Amino acid sequence: MGEKIPHWLEKQAQLNPSKTAIRFERGATLAFSELRIESRRVATSLQSKGIGKGSHIALLANNQADVPVFIHAASYVGAVLVLLNTRLTSSEIAYQLRDAEVTDVFVSQEWMDKATEARSTLPDCRQYVLEELNQSKDDGESLIEEIDLDEVFTMMYTSGTTGRPKAVMHTYGNHWYSAVASALNLGLHKDDQWLLCLPLFHVGGFSILMKSVVYGMTVECLESFDEQTIEEAIYQRGVTHVSVVTVMLQRLIEKLGHGQYPDHFRCMLLGGGPVPRHLLEQAAERNIPVFQSYGMTETSSQIATLSPGSALRKLGSAGKALSPASLVIDSEEDGEVGEILVRGPMVAKSYYNHPPSEEPFFRTGDLGYKDCEGFLYVVDRVKDVIISGGENIYPAEIESVLAGLPGVIEAGVTSRTHEKWGEVPVAFLVTEDEAVWSKETINNLIKEQVAKYKLPHAYFFVKELPRNASNKLLRRQLTSLIEGEEYGD
Ligand code: ATP
Ligand code: MG
Repeated sequence: MGEKIPHWLEKQAQLNPSKTAIRFERGATLAFSELRIESRRVATSLQSKGIGKGSHIALLANNQADVPVFIHAASYVGAVLVLLNTRLTSSEIAYQLRDAEVTDVFVSQEWMDKATEARSTLPDCRQYVLEELNQSKDDGESLIEEIDLDEVFTMMYTSGTTGRPKAVMHTYGNHWYSAVASALNLGLHKDDQWLLCLPLFHVGGFSILMKSVVYGMTVECLESFDEQTIEEAIYQRGVTHVSVVTVMLQRLIEKLGHGQYPDHFRCMLLGGGPVPRHLLEQAAERNIPVFQSYGMTETSSQIATLSPGSALRKLGSAGKALSPASLVIDSEEDGEVGEILVRGPMVAKSYYNHPPSEEPFFRTGDLGYKDCEGFLYVVDRVKDVIISGGENIYPAEIESVLAGLPGVIEAGVTSRTHEKWGEVPVAFLVTEDEAVWSKETINNLIKEQVAKYKLPHAYFFVKELPRNASNKLLRRQLTSLIEGEEYGD
C-alpha cells in the first residue's frame, strides 16, 4: 500500500466549492462542489453495474461534458480507466479492449456504431451509452475517500508510431506528481485558467484535468480544436494557459496574424512531437510565451520544459527536466547524441501485460543531446535513424528544414536502400497548389542548412502523409506512397 491523500475532488469541493472547475464550450459551467456531486452520482451508477475497485472499464468519447465527470467517477469507485482514442478503427479498439481485459465500455452516442463493431468479437464485454449514465442518487457511503498514490488509475495506449501501441499504467501518484512538477515549473497564480483543446484520451489533455483538480484551477474544455474559440477564450474569458501540439500552434499563429496576445496570457505549452524551427521563430516574433516541452505517454505529460525566457537563445531545445525528474543521455561523451533516459515520480512503472523493467531509468527510445548548459535537444527516434555511409542522419532535422520552405505544407523523410551508401534519405512533400520542383531546385535551397550527405536522393510529391490516430507521422509507411513519378536519381 502506498501513501494516501484525501480524494482530490473532495478536497477541492471543500477548499473552493463555488469556484468554476470546468467551463464547457456552450457556456455551461460546473463549480467544484457541483462537479463533486455529479461525479459521485455517476460513481454510484457505476457501482450499481458491479464496477468497483480494480475493475477495468473503458471510455470512448470526445471531450464532451460527461467525460470529465466520468473520469472523476471512475476514481470514486477505484476502477482502472482505459481511455480509448476515438480515431482508432474498430479493429484497433477491439485489440485494446482485449489487451487491457476491459469488462465494461462506456461510449458516447456518436461512437456507438464503431464500438458495437469492435465488440462483435468480445461477447463478454458490456457496452453502455455514456449519456444515459447520470441517473443514480449518490448514496455517499461506499465511495473512495482517500486516494492511494500507488494504485493504478488510468491506462492509456501509446500512439503506436514505432510499433504496436502499449498500455501505459499510470498510478494516481504519477498524475499527482506530474501536476505538482508542472506547477513548480510554471508557478501557480490565483487567476490561472487552462484551456483544454487536446483530447482527454491523450495524456496531454488528461493532465490538464488533473491539474484542475490538484490545484483547484478553472479549465475551459473544448470539444475540438478551434482557433476562433481559443482567441475568444484568451481575450474575453481570461484564459492564461493553453496546451497545444505543433499544428495547433501553426493555426493559432495564422489566425493571430501580426497581432499579439494580451499580457495575462502566460503559457502556450507545446508538446507531443518535433517542432519546425521556423514556427518557433514566428511565435517568438509575436511574443507568444511558448514553452517547448518533451514528454510521452509514459511520463504522464511533459518531463522537460523550456521557458520562453530561454526560447530564442536555445531555439529548438526542450529545456531541462522538471524538479522531481532526472534526464540523462546514454552516450560516451558529454554533448554527444544518445538515447534519452528518464526517471521520476511521474514516470509510469510498467505497461500492462509486460514485465516491469528492472532498469533504474526508463529508456525513451528517443535520441537527444544536452548542450554545455544542460539544455536538452531531442533529435529523433532511435528506430528512425538513417545510417548512410557510416554517418547518422536524423529524418526530423531534414523534415524541419523542408517544412520551412515557402509553399511546403508538410514533409516526411525516410530511408531507401542504396548500393554504395547502404541507406539514403528520400523525402515526401505536401505542397500548396500541388507544386512540384526538381530535386536540384530543392537541394539547392536547403544546402546551406543541410550537409551534403544528408540531402535527400529523391523527392515525392503526395497529397497527404500517412498519420496514425494521434496524427503522428508514420515514416515507415511513407514508401508505400511511391507510385509512378519520382523526382530524383
Ligand atoms: P509508440 O511509443 O507507440 O511508438 P509514440 O511514442 O508516438 O508511440 P506518444 O507517447 O504519444 O507515443 O508520443 C511520445 C513521443 O513523441 C516521444 O517519445 C517522442 O518521440 C515524441 N516527442 C515528444 N515531445 C517531443 C519533442 N519536443 N521533440 C521531438 N519529439 C517529441
Ligand atoms: Mg513511444
